[in-house]
Amino acid sequence: MNSQRLVFGVLGAGMALCGALAAAPAAVAADHGVSATASGLPSYEQWQADVRKVMDPAIPYLNDRVARGGKKLAIVLDIDNTSLETEYHRGAPNKPVLAFAKAAADKGVSVLVATARKESGRSGALSDLRKAGYPAITEICLKKNESHAVDVKIRCRKEFVSEGYTLIANVGNRPGDLEYKNYERGFKLPDYDGQLS
Ligand SMILES: [Mg+2]
Repeated sequence: MNSQRLVFGVLGAGMALCGALAAAPAAVAADHGVSATASGLPSYEQWQADVRKVMDPAIPYLNDRVARGGKKLAIVLDIDNTSLETEYHRGAPNKPVLAFAKAAADKGVSVLVATARKESGRSGALSDLRKAGYPAITEICLKKNESHAVDVKIRCRKEFVSEGYTLIANVGNRPGDLEYKNYERGFKLPDYDGQLS
């Protein structure tokens, strides 16, 4: 009798715990993108407003720059929290950057990607971008043996330049994405002091 009651007691507590765990992600998800997030990041709307502030001049610049000509014109994109809304809506396109990439591709400008995602994730990264609606990626360059993301980005852009590309724009959200200026114009999206990777 006692042991039976104990079993039901444990089961009951377990079910209550499961219920609490199941409810938790929904509460977080509902909060995501509406107000300040649990991590202290700005709301989704604030982030998008900050992104648009940076990207609004990008397409007019692209149009002007393409009209001036050059060989193998290309733009360079970071993936996480730049091309994709990784922190806010995993897998979804960051629309102002998507619009820029589409405009570039429409004008025959190569779309290059430099990411600190690992080389082993190459096909997954390309698939993520394709699913998010990105135009064909001309080249993607990923992390090899580097300890720091900034070293990946610099190596990747040096490789692109050595292949003859003229990097007319470089879009990233971490300061390291923009270090070593072998590109013409940088578009630095917010990272809120390193909170967005
Ligand atoms: Mg990033």
